[in-house]
Amino acid sequence: MLTQIKGLHHVTSLASSASENNAFFTKVLGLRRVKKTVNFDAPNVYHLYYGDELGTPGTVMTYFPFPNARRGRPGAGEVSATVFSVPEGALSWWSERFATFGVAGVKSEIRMGEKRLRFLGPDGDAFALSETADDSRTPWTGNGVSADVAIRGFHSADMRLQDKGASAELLKFMGYSEIEKQGNITRFLREGGNDARLIDLETLPLASAAEQGAGSVHHIAFAVENRATQLEVRKALLDTGWQVTPPIDRDYFWAIYFRTPGGVLFEIATNEPGFDRDEDSAHLGEALKLPKQHAHLREALETRYLEPLND
Ligand code: ZN
Repeated sequence: MLTQIKGLHHVTSLASSASENNAFFTKVLGLRRVKKTVNFDAPNVYHLYYGDELGTPGTVMTYFPFPNARRGRPGAGEVSATVFSVPEGALSWWSERFATFGVAGVKSEIRMGEKRLRFLGPDGDAFALSETADDSRTPWTGNGVSADVAIRGFHSADMRLQDKGASAELLKFMGYSEIEKQGNITRFLREGGNDARLIDLETLPLASAAEQGAGSVHHIAFAVENRATQLEVRKALLDTGWQVTPPIDRDYFWAIYFRTPGGVLFEIATNEPGFDRDEDSAHLGEALKLPKQHAHLREALETRYLEPLND
């Protein structure tokens, strides 16, 4: 069993409009945009990152907004909801805020004894806020969201699968243990991990496969401290028969990827070097930062391809 993986690092999803996406995560949810860059493989598309003050691993929601992308269809073989942690007692405030902003799909529920509020993002993206008693992370505040209610980072992610067997075994290999069940949902905990250390597997044997599109999670990334521990994890996964990519430089972290048996794309990402490596932490996410191989495209990207994000 691996000990290097410490919980979630980031979750990356697809969107249809960069400006709507940006407004939702900053103005409605109150997160900080910590990086404005482009997709390495499709530089005419933004890669937007939202999180706490510095984009601490375990707080970072990222998006590829493809203009006019068709909406995805929920189903099996995907991350079915991304869940943020908020303080106990905060959900009634959020419920009112969501009503004010016309947020869709708002619904209260209890999951494993914890109160949560489900809601949908601008492309039908499935999210929830979960009240958490012991989350000591310092939140980003502003846009009318004060520290007593603000999002702390990720609480967990839900994966919806036709069969959870192989994914459960994989999570255990990655250092997670099964701790609780509620109906067809099984909860896994990375004991000793960061504050984003829970994964819930929901089994729906007859669900049809998800179709990826705007509002779908593209991949989910787990955190390791550094490149040395990432190489240890890569070797262990390869030795167990997983097809894992070589480490790829993503400018703000190093990444390896592999497709899991349930259909979800997993990434293992390093906590180093972080989002303040190329801009002052007081101004994170303000300027358009380009990977060096795309630097020569700046003028075309800024004038023709990337819609302006005002704030
Ligand atoms: Zn990623």
